[in-house]
Amino acid sequence: MSSTLTSTFRKQTRGSVDLVVKNAKLLLESGIARGGIGVIDGIIVVIAGDEHLPEAATVIDADGKILMPGLIDVHAHIHDPTMMEHETFTTGSKAAVAGGITTFVDMPLTNQVDTSKAVEEKIAQGEEMSIADFTFYAGMMNSDNIVAIPALIEKGIAAFKAFTCMPYQTSSGVIVKCLSAMSEYGGHLTVHAEDQGILNEFSREMDDEWDAPISHSLARPNIAEQLAIQKCINIAEQTGGHLHIAHVTTREGVHEVEKGRLRGVMVTTEVCPHHLVFYRDEMNRLGTKSKMNPPLRSKQDRAALWSALLRGNIDAVASDHAPCPIEKKDAGSEDIRNAWSGVDGIQMILRVLLSEGINKARMTYSRLLRVCSRNPARIFGLYPKKGVLRIGADADFVIVDQNREEKISNDMMESKCGWTLYEGMTMMGVPVMTFIRGTLVFKEGNVVAKPGYGKFQAMGSGNRPIGD
Ligand SMILES: [Zn+2]
Repeated sequence: MSSTLTSTFRKQTRGSVDLVVKNAKLLLESGIARGGIGVIDGIIVVIAGDEHLPEAATVIDADGKILMPGLIDVHAHIHDPTMMEHETFTTGSKAAVAGGITTFVDMPLTNQVDTSKAVEEKIAQGEEMSIADFTFYAGMMNSDNIVAIPALIEKGIAAFKAFTCMPYQTSSGVIVKCLSAMSEYGGHLTVHAEDQGILNEFSREMDDEWDAPISHSLARPNIAEQLAIQKCINIAEQTGGHLHIAHVTTREGVHEVEKGRLRGVMVTTEVCPHHLVFYRDEMNRLGTKSKMNPPLRSKQDRAALWSALLRGNIDAVASDHAPCPIEKKDAGSEDIRNAWSGVDGIQMILRVLLSEGINKARMTYSRLLRVCSRNPARIFGLYPKKGVLRIGADADFVIVDQNREEKISNDMMESKCGWTLYEGMTMMGVPVMTFIRGTLVFKEGNVVAKPGYGKFQAMGSGNRPIGD
């Protein structure tokens, strides 16, 4: 690659570098290139063909494998001090690095994060317990905490969460006020979009069929998502604030986002790995583990999600990682309403995209880079420090063996809950090494860094372009 880069680097550094990874297929913003990278003090200082790479204290031969920026999971329920039996900063970040994720965005469950003090406490907990770099959402938003938005953005928390449905349902008025604040101060509002009125009405129709897991999906029809997305996009259009739709699941939902973007509304969206793999008719076979919100949809919806992802109309893939102790799933074996809603996912995003995406020609490497790393970094104000292989960026990267097959098992899960919806599936494509700021944190099935290595990452608040 460019000898200009190398000579600039030599002038800057005048010594040997800490780490060189050579003989890789680099996923760059401009495409795939053969070569390697050099790292000093956790920062990428050189990207070059192998013949131009400098001497280094440690040299790793990637053996022709893919080297891509670490993934950024922008929706993961990792650490809630009131629900540490589900996951913690330590167990969740182990699962993250085992899945090639180098930064995650935690989202609160029951414990509110909506004051400067709560933000400071959460940063301290994460920096003590997390292996991966992290940041987090403020939420859940309600009429009382809207006033805190400017102070939270000042502290580097520029992502806010709201629901249009239970259990954290908020009014349209709150969404208007939040998006108005986004328009004024930057940052974005992420909405879990399902219309509660429709859920109420369709739930009543299920009568005594709640013993079948599929009833959970039938009680939450596509139109519930479509109407809620429509409403939020209208509000984003009126206010000019940046709206991010969490976990889109339906073809109608995707279409609403596309229509909004065509008329210039600042709306971005994400999809979850489980909605790209599983579908509604499998729910009775999969059992209570397959309950999550929004629910699994039809095969046609699944096809629409892959297609939108490939076209660039879905910006990011995010885990919505929200596992639970298995007893909370088993509690719904007679009545699915009693099961916890949520599945694992943070260890599976990259595996799913490699195996079900690249391997089955539904995804290209260029899209993989965008939906896993670059776009999440841009939408969450972490770019270009994160999400890209670039000189001056943090040396966060993952080496992937695309030709290795792996049988997914509960045993390999680093999550505290120790089970996975993907149990028994054979997948093609494995993350083999993960580095954060130039330090090896995961190698061949083993987490090799200690809790406390992870650092809080403040989000910038500027609006980011969409549809890339
Ligand atoms: Zn969630």
